[in-house]
Amino acid sequence: MKINVAPLLKQPVGTQAEYEVSESPIDPRGENAGLTEAGATSIEADIVATHTNPGAYLEGDARATIAEQCSRCLRAIETPVEAHFAEQYYSTIDVVSGDAKEAPPPDAKRISSDFKIDLTPLLREEIILATPLAPLCRPDCKGLCLVCGRDLNEEPHDHDAPVDERWTKLSKLKEFHPER
Ligand SMILES: [Zn+2]
Ligand SMILES: [Zn+2]
Repeated sequence: MKINVAPLLKQPVGTQAEYEVSESPIDPRGENAGLTEAGATSIEADIVATHTNPGAYLEGDARATIAEQCSRCLRAIETPVEAHFAEQYYSTIDVVSGDAKEAPPPDAKRISSDFKIDLTPLLREEIILATPLAPLCRPDCKGLCLVCGRDLNEEPHDHDAPVDERWTKLSKLKEFHPER
């Protein structure tokens, strides 16, 4: 999603403008497709942009829903994530004169020549950072049985100690040499 900062950049340095963006569910073929690559199914963000000398400083909060799998029982879950972000964007063209501005630092985020800022890459990055690495469907999820693979939340069960020929022989050996 893009925000147009041209009106803000025409105001004196220090002027602020608020933007709200949201999409739910995110269209995987729309302008926020980059967010679905990060697993997001919905996004909502409030942003305050400040006109600064180099361009526009964006600060905001994003709330997204991420489609994931429980790391223990593998069922599909939706995890809410929140992120706070702040980023300086550099103007490349003067909004009043149309002249090219001094080149920003090489790795700086730039305001495109149409004075729009594409928020999707920033939000995508923030969502990935805020996404838990081992999400759970619930804090006490019991996971899958290591022996048979069934879901221990739905079918709580135990298995008798596995019977293995080698262990049986070993225990007989122990009986034969009790001092060891
Ligand atoms: Zn689970
Ligand atoms: Zn089992």
